[in-house]
Amino acid sequence: MSNEKSMEILDLYRAKVMPTYTPSVAVASGKGITVRDADGRSYYDFTSGIGVQAVGYGNRKVTEAIQSQAAALTHCSNLFVNAPETQLAAKLVELSGLGGKVFFCNSGAEANEAAIKLARKWGHANGGRYEVVTFRQGFHGRTLATVAATAQAWCQEGYDPLPVGFAYADYNDLDSVKAAITDRTVAILLEAVQGEGGVTPATEDFLKGVRALCDERNLIMIVDEVQTGMGRTGTWFAWQGFGVKPDLFTCAKALGGGLPMGALVSNAKFADVFTPSSHASTFGGNPVAAAAANAVISVIEEDGLLENVAKVGALLKEALQSFVDKYDKLLEVRGKGLMLGLVVDGDAKEVVDALAGQGLLALTAGPHVVRFLPPLCLGEDDLEDAVDMISDALDNVFGE
Ligand code: PLP
Repeated sequence: MSNEKSMEILDLYRAKVMPTYTPSVAVASGKGITVRDADGRSYYDFTSGIGVQAVGYGNRKVTEAIQSQAAALTHCSNLFVNAPETQLAAKLVELSGLGGKVFFCNSGAEANEAAIKLARKWGHANGGRYEVVTFRQGFHGRTLATVAATAQAWCQEGYDPLPVGFAYADYNDLDSVKAAITDRTVAILLEAVQGEGGVTPATEDFLKGVRALCDERNLIMIVDEVQTGMGRTGTWFAWQGFGVKPDLFTCAKALGGGLPMGALVSNAKFADVFTPSSHASTFGGNPVAAAAANAVISVIEEDGLLENVAKVGALLKEALQSFVDKYDKLLEVRGKGLMLGLVVDGDAKEVVDALAGQGLLALTAGPHVVRFLPPLCLGEDDLEDAVDMISDALDNVFGE
């Protein structure tokens, strides 16, 4: 098959777009779990566009919601209110059960910035505190504050001076959290499953311990649900699977069904910390993105996708475990629901490239972990095909 059109697009991209990414596929369209490149080659997308296309590409209800809202109103500013954003706020509060309020923005980093700002605003009024404890191998975004919150050298290098006010602890290690807390600490920010840092789930004891510490020391517990939210791990928000309730959580990625949309959700205690003009975002609560998000939520509900994640996630994990049992160079499968990591004794990128060669797109999560984030609508038949592709790719890399 020719790759002429793809090459033309990739050449122009390399000449004119700043080289922060190094793509090798020019995607032209998508349907369900499949994307097609500009020359018609198709791939199973087990990245979901990095966790975004939870209900699959080109979902009819999401597409129709976008089309009809775009025809009615694309933007009106936050000097006015639009019905889709209020409906979405009410729904997020209901699904979370936290009884609070929502601030809308456009991305995960921006949602985490909002959480950090809210924590500081409350902390200054409650004991002059501003410091946020975050975790090694965590990931919270690429703005300066969220890079400072992301305790990974590759993310921070070259961007000094970073904003101050962050202290780092070890994930799943409560003593390390206790050691990082000072009189200045106002909040603890963490992922329930660390995504970019290697697909590492928190233990239930750890998250419960963090909750208890926050209660004892009057700290705000913030969970970053940017990658885990909207059903990825089998519950609407990953923290719901651990028997804890945060004070604040953030979501983005899958929320907008492919359109930029981020949200900070609070409990009742922190619902009115932001006051008029204290924070803002021009496009926050955009009616088209909010209409798409409302449609994403109804599709997850109506199509029983949370149940599907539990069922298909278990099957995928079982298949990956069988490869771990087969190849010495595969060390472990970990993760939750349809957020799974295959730990490699070697270069994860080599496996990701071999998977792409078989027609399946996956991600790395650090140098040694292959990350699978398929759409939540993945069916059992498609999973069988995918497992065959994974088997062939692993055979190419690790077979005799
Ligand atoms: N937080 C987590 C846990 C993420 O995985 C990401 C992105 O991968 C972000 C924040 C940043 O989100 P965005 O790229 O939408 O700013």
